[in-house]
Amino acid sequence: MITTIQMELSKISKIKIGPSASVYMAENAFEYMKNPLLVADKIVLGNCSKVLIGDNVKDVIINVDQNPVIEHRGEILHVSSGLTVDYLMEYLLKNEIGGPQYLAGIPATIGGLIWMNGGAFGHHIWEDILYIRAIDLNGKIFFLNHDDVKFSYRFSDLKSFNVKFIVDAFLRIHKIPYFELAKEISEKIEYRKIHHPVDYPSLGSTFKNSSNMLAWKVIQEIGLVNYRVGDAKFSEKHPNFIVNLGNATFADVKTLVEFAMERSLEKLNVKISPEIIFVD
Ligand SMILES: Cc1cc2nc3c(=O)[nH]c(=O)nc-3n(C[C@H](O)[C@H](O)[C@H](O)COP(=O)(O)OP(=O)(O)OC[C@H]3O[C@@H](n4cnc5c(N)ncnc54)[C@H](O)[C@@H]3O)c2cc1C
Repeated sequence: MITTIQMELSKISKIKIGPSASVYMAENAFEYMKNPLLVADKIVLGNCSKVLIGDNVKDVIINVDQNPVIEHRGEILHVSSGLTVDYLMEYLLKNEIGGPQYLAGIPATIGGLIWMNGGAFGHHIWEDILYIRAIDLNGKIFFLNHDDVKFSYRFSDLKSFNVKFIVDAFLRIHKIPYFELAKEISEKIEYRKIHHPVDYPSLGSTFKNSSNMLAWKVIQEIGLVNYRVGDAKFSEKHPNFIVNLGNATFADVKTLVEFAMERSLEKLNVKISPEIIFVD
């Protein structure tokens, strides 16, 4: 069943910014296959860990499964798109399954990661995907194989297939001893605690790394570490994170992002592009 409620999106946004909106939620992503046209004119969001939500947003699907589907057979793992990474890690540990454990600690859903080819520690999710099922803008449900899709660093070309909603995914997995896996997962989570400003709301990395310079280095070189607009600030702990100090707005973050882009071009002749996604 799909339910609709009025909700403050700032409560679920990982940077705590967003207006009150009408929110569609379901038990899990499969519910949308019963009414595929429902997704056509809506903004589809996952765990809101990469989207900066503007004041004009009125109507969204929040695809975080209340009752996720996760199962495996042999070397294939099947997951519903609204499954969170935390849930995935629990399942991997319980079943001694290796493969996507590099995702540990990312506050995302599988759907969000697939959309933008998220990853960490030199790996990204499309490496592990065998195929996905999706709904397109016309409500058509179809499968896409790994080889059909072009992907690169924080990019997949799902838009070229008119993909509107990712329903589920099939990933390559392998067996791994419990202690080896547990060690890997806890090391990754610990790394994040040490290197990321986890005490403040954020959307993770603000800019994509450019081919000639890491984004955090760009922010440092152009003197914007700790630079603040309203309550939005480039973090000193990780300069590529913008943190919300309390009451940051969509406009504060946007101004900061645009300022950094201009300054990087002007001072270093380096073009940086946002990794965060503006939805307005
Ligand atoms: C503290 C912190 C650390 C982070 N670390 C990392 C990291 O190491 N690596 C990394 O890659 N990212 C990282 N991120 C960013 C973020 O978690 C990822 O970009 C992730 O892919 C976003 O997933 P989400 O479910 O939150 O999607 P959202 O932010 O809700 O949406 C992101 C995009 O995906 C689309 N989308 C979401 N679900 C679906 C669906 N089912 N069908 C179609 N489109 C969909 C949305 O329309 C939107 O365009 C971090 C974020 C934070 C806050």
